[in-house]
Amino acid sequence: MECKKPPRITFTNLSGVPGLFHGVFTRRGGVSAPPYESLNVGWNGDAPEAVRENLERVKAAAGVERLVASKQVHGDVLGFIDEESMRSLEERSPTLLAPPADALATNLSGLGLLIKIADCQSILLADPESRIIANIHSGWRGSVLNIAGKTVKRLERFGLDPSRTLAAVSPSLGPCCAEFINFEREIPEEFWPFRVGPHHFDFWAITRSQLLGAGLLEEHIECAARCTVCEKSEYFSYRGEHETGRMASVIGWKRP
Ligand SMILES: [Zn+2]
Repeated sequence: MECKKPPRITFTNLSGVPGLFHGVFTRRGGVSAPPYESLNVGWNGDAPEAVRENLERVKAAAGVERLVASKQVHGDVLGFIDEESMRSLEERSPTLLAPPADALATNLSGLGLLIKIADCQSILLADPESRIIANIHSGWRGSVLNIAGKTVKRLERFGLDPSRTLAAVSPSLGPCCAEFINFEREIPEEFWPFRVGPHHFDFWAITRSQLLGAGLLEEHIECAARCTVCEKSEYFSYRGEHETGRMASVIGWKRP
């Protein structure tokens, strides 16, 4: 039986790193029924056997032995997956489940770090020399917590060099649709310069500024600049549809 690889978004900077797989899968190429059609990787509401099959397809396309996911809670915790923490991961076939965290990082081969998104950003990081990679889940709450900048700083302890680190920002809530009517209460004042309309904010620019603040170089940061709310046939959007699926974003070292 022929199994077509589901389509995904890739980035020029990360594509140039030998041995690295990365991709933000769209909503197409899976088996889930509406309103989760079709490549949904979120367990909530959808038929578990469909989610399992979708995850198998993502794993096969990534060419990794295991996918590692975590319960995402809109916080700023980093889960670093090394040989030791690997042993304590929970089996949730076909993924391994790490303790709650919105950033996952590793330097191990054969593992795909999985972040699930529908409007939130997945921020992929790779330092080709230390081989530290990360996948960050950052919605607007993550932006307020500066999970992107904090993760870079925390990974320096493991040998990551921000000036070498490549970053990519997934399709996500764009400035066209990031409307915050109550922004004066919800959005900290330091973000107000990123306002692009009376109530609209550019969270892509906020992430870029947070990564620059953590020491990344401008030329190492790439943004898909695709809005998930605007392109409902390609992407799942929580703002756009409410009852909907989650897309898979994955980064991992293939086994040599
Ligand atoms: Zn939009």
